[in-house]
Formats: sequence, structure tokens, C-alpha cells
Amino acid sequence: MPDFSEKKPYLLQHRRRFMLVLGILLLAEILFHLLWLPWLPQSWLFSVGGLAELTVLAIIVLMFWGAQREPLPDAAYNWLTCGLSLWLVSAVADIMDEVVEQPRWLSAFGEDLMRVFGMVLVAGGVFSLMRHARRVHQQLQSLANTDELTGLFNRRHFNRLGADMQRHGLALLLLDLDHFKQVNDTFGHSVGDEVLQELGRILSLHCPPGGYPARLGGEEFAVLLPAMTAGRLHDLAEQIRLAVAAMCIKPGVRLTTSVGMGCLRSGETLEQLQQRTDRALYRAKALGRNRSEWAD
Ligand code: GH3
Ligand code: MG
Ligand code: MG
Repeated sequence: MPDFSEKKPYLLQHRRRFMLVLGILLLAEILFHLLWLPWLPQSWLFSVGGLAELTVLAIIVLMFWGAQREPLPDAAYNWLTCGLSLWLVSAVADIMDEVVEQPRWLSAFGEDLMRVFGMVLVAGGVFSLMRHARRVHQQLQSLANTDELTGLFNRRHFNRLGADMQRHGLALLLLDLDHFKQVNDTFGHSVGDEVLQELGRILSLHCPPGGYPARLGGEEFAVLLPAMTAGRLHDLAEQIRLAVAAMCIKPGVRLTTSVGMGCLRSGETLEQLQQRTDRALYRAKALGRNRSEWAD
């Protein structure tokens, strides 16, 4: 997530000076109208048109104030502040022509052109904000679905993927490292973390297309797979088991994993498949670890 407080956009750094210049410009604009231009015989300021223009001015001021208060990303802040400033100059000229007679050049350049440029810049700011919102949304979604240590999907996303896949049939591997606690106790927690990361890499490497490796928590992992034959699932489980047994984090750190294998039966839910496969995993533990067992 971007930290808005660290690097301020140029305009924000010089905000006071910018506000001062803008204030002086608007004051000069009003004074110029009132002192140098001929007054209309009748003011239209409080007519329907005049009140509508006053409302537009109030809205622009409100948006300008909002843009100054909110922690916007740099690009959006610059676009919106510049655009709304031009639009403000235009809106003031728009109101003044209800009171005084504006020459043609002023209504064309001071009002219409300024408004067009202002709106273009504001539109740029709005697009920039939309892009930013999409990026933040993607980042948050990725954070919500990913296990921080291994980069694999977390349990929450595993459940969602499984629910989506179960209509078309699926297969499941559940893995639990053997005597992992001893690695932590002997070599320290950071080596334990390295082991978990390496296991994450092994699962990603061996996972076939359409499959999703996930860390369910602690040293328990899963691979969610599209429906496949028992033979293929068994081969995959053995490949992973042997790769874990061959993994070498540092001299002396040797690990194995027990694996539960299961295929979804018709009418079965992911949860039921998970329970069956979990029982198979614990049978693998009971039968001596470092082996793969089928769900009953
Ligand atoms: P078993 O063969 O029966 O599975 O034994 P085990 O030691 O692997 O299982 P146990 O459930 O007794 O211990 C799991 C250990 O995993 C305990 C805990 O400290 C460790 N662990 C859980 N999460 C993490 C983690 O994120 N990092 C590290 N380094 N260790 C973790
Ligand atoms: Mg374990
Ligand atoms: Mg465990």
C-alpha cells in the first residue's frame, strides 16, 4: 500500500504559496470585473441562472477543499488541484457576467477556455483516481488471498477455489511436515521459516496447470487439483514427497512429509473430502511418516 505521508507531491509541498497565488488571482479577477468593466443596468445574480452559477461555484470550492483534505495519490492530487483551480477562475468569471458587462475575449478565454481546460484536468484526476482504486483493490485482494511467508494461497482462498472447482470434480493432496517442531527447536524459527518457504516452492514447481497449492496454516499444506485418475494423483504425491525428502536447506536439516490423497466422490462436498483426506494423512503419520496414503 502506498504511503501518502512520505513523499509529498510538488504542489502539496508548496501548497501555501499556491493557495496564496490562487487567492490573489481570484481577488484580482473580481476586482477587475467590478472596477474596470461597465455594470449591467440590472444585476442577474439572484436570477435562476445566477443562482445556478453560484451553486456550481460552491460545488467546485467544495471539491477543491476535498482534494486538499484527502490523502490523494500524487498524480491525482496534481491533476485535480490544477483542474479545479482553472475551473474556479472560470466559475468566478461566469458569475461576474451576471453583474458586469464582459468583453467577448474575457467570456471566451477567461470563462469558456478555462472551463474546458479545467474539466479536462479534473477528468484526468478522476481517471487517475480510478486507476489507483483498481490497483489498491488488486493489492488488497492479493493480500487477503495470499500466505505472507510462502506466497501460496491461504486457507480462505483455498476454500473459495475449492467451492468453485467442486462442480467439475477435484482431487486433493494434504501434506504435513514430519517432526517439524524439531527443526524449530534445533535450528531456530528462522530456519523453520526457510523450510516452509522451500516447501512452498516445491509445491508450486510440481503443481500441474489448473491446480492450486495452498498453505492451510502452520506446517500444513494442500494442493487442490482438477479431477484426475488415481494413478496420476499418486504419482504427483510421490514426486512431491521425494522432492521434500531431497530438499537441503542447510547441512543437517533433513525433512520428510506425510501426504493424504483423495478424489472427490459424486455428491461429496470439499469439506467431506478434506475430512477423509485428513484421516489419510494421519494414517500416514501413524504408519511411520514419510509416506502417502489414500483417503478411505
Ligand atoms: P508431526 O510429524 O506429528 O506433524 O510433528 P510436528 O512436529 O511436525 O507437528 P507439531 O504439530 O507438533 O508441530 C508443528 C510445529 O510447527 C509447531 C510450530 O512451532 C511450527 N510452526 C507453525 N507455524 C510455523 C511458522 O510459521 N514458522 C515456523 N518456523 N514454525 C511454525
Ligand atoms: Mg508436522
Ligand atoms: Mg501439524
